[in-house]
Amino acid sequence: MSSMTEQGAGETVTDVAVCIIGAGPVGATLACRLARDGVPVAVVDRAALPPMENPEFDGRAYAIAAGSKKLLEAAGVWDHLPQIACPIEDILVTDGRPGQPPSPLSLEFTREDSAQPFGWMAEARALRVALNATLHNSPLVTVLAPAEVSIVRNENGVTVKATDGRTLRAQLLVAADGRGSRTRSQAGIPITKLAYGQSGIVCAIAHEHPHDNGALEHFLPGGPFAQLPMTGTAEHPYLSAIVWSEKDAMAQRIAALPEEQFKRELKRRIGDRLGDVTPVGRRWVYPLAAQYAHHYTATRLVLAGDAAHGIHPIAGQGLNLGFRDVIALSDILLTAYARGEDLGNPALLSCYQARCRPANMMMFMATDALDRLFSNDNPVLRLARDVGIATVQRLPRLRKAFVKHAMGV
Ligand SMILES: Cc1cc2nc3c(=O)[nH]c(=O)nc-3n(C[C@H](O)[C@H](O)[C@H](O)COP(=O)(O)OP(=O)(O)OC[C@H]3O[C@@H](n4cnc5c(N)ncnc54)[C@H](O)[C@@H]3O)c2cc1C
Repeated sequence: MSSMTEQGAGETVTDVAVCIIGAGPVGATLACRLARDGVPVAVVDRAALPPMENPEFDGRAYAIAAGSKKLLEAAGVWDHLPQIACPIEDILVTDGRPGQPPSPLSLEFTREDSAQPFGWMAEARALRVALNATLHNSPLVTVLAPAEVSIVRNENGVTVKATDGRTLRAQLLVAADGRGSRTRSQAGIPITKLAYGQSGIVCAIAHEHPHDNGALEHFLPGGPFAQLPMTGTAEHPYLSAIVWSEKDAMAQRIAALPEEQFKRELKRRIGDRLGDVTPVGRRWVYPLAAQYAHHYTATRLVLAGDAAHGIHPIAGQGLNLGFRDVIALSDILLTAYARGEDLGNPALLSCYQARCRPANMMMFMATDALDRLFSNDNPVLRLARDVGIATVQRLPRLRKAFVKHAMGV
């Protein structure tokens, strides 16, 4: 159990096994997963984490792979989702130019390629609601949010002091505070960044025809365009999420278009498969960049999620990669905790880095190569990728291997 002691002048000290900085999807899921199996944890975020609040629909959604869904179930989060996540059962991958029909050499992953859906689309706000509810329902989780903290780490332990006088003591600190992680930079862990000169336009659309749980990944010269099926609402029974990459200036121009012109640009990329389309909710523009930390550990510290790696969203795998960190880290920590070991033991931390970093670097390189191969109108590269697409389409075993990897199973 976590223990709390009064130190005088209103100062309280809470002892936990693990303290997590950042209650984004990665940090919050790790906290819930560890607490579910009896490990006392604390999670600190500079933003508030209201337990019940359901923010307005804002058009953002995550593609959750099968391995990630299993983790969310084990952490007790999945059952708190306020609406059913939409399964992705078919994926059509095509190469083309806007306004022209897709290349006939397309690649289709269908229900026959897999015994279960390729992934599930969950609204970002639904995942937030589920995470906050689970955190607040877990007696072994101490939540400090909103909070600003200062951190001291040494061979003996970790001390985290909040500006309101609360203090946490832990054996291990996890930096899950996102791409700009202050915890990572304070630990002096260098990162390498890659800019793509592309931005992602993210929004939701209502459409005339059902999506039949099908997704489209359309590779265009400006960057990939993805339509991903979402669970409908009473107002919009047929809904999809759009993640659309373009060169920076073009993305800003497109996102600022009046409704009718924006709709026309969407239709030029989706074609007729969904009938008439109407944008719903906000349009978001994110500059796309990739980065990786040179190592994932320091004295009593590990990095997880975007604090450790950020990849191009071309394959919708950013968060899934973070969830893979959580799976590896919770496995290692739960075993060590059951044996009564010190969770800050450098051998454990090295084991975590060895399990995650090489696979994450592979994914980093693969998404980078994919973007360079596809976001390009060079006729030789067009031919190469069309031949590649057609080859994978013809080889069912290779198709199944692709699917298994993307699903994280
Ligand atoms: C356009 C776009 C589309 C994407 N689509 C997908 C997709 O379909 N599927 C997918 O898997 N991934 C997708 N991603 C990636 C995904 O959004 C990220 O990988 C994911 O949010 C990372 O989660 P995280 O918890 O590591 O970090 P974050 O979500 O960044 O959370 C970090 C948390 O730390 C807190 N914090 C920050 N600094 C401090 C501090 N100093 N002290 C305390 N707290 C702090 C923040 O308030 C926040 O709560 C997409 C990304 C982009 C840009």
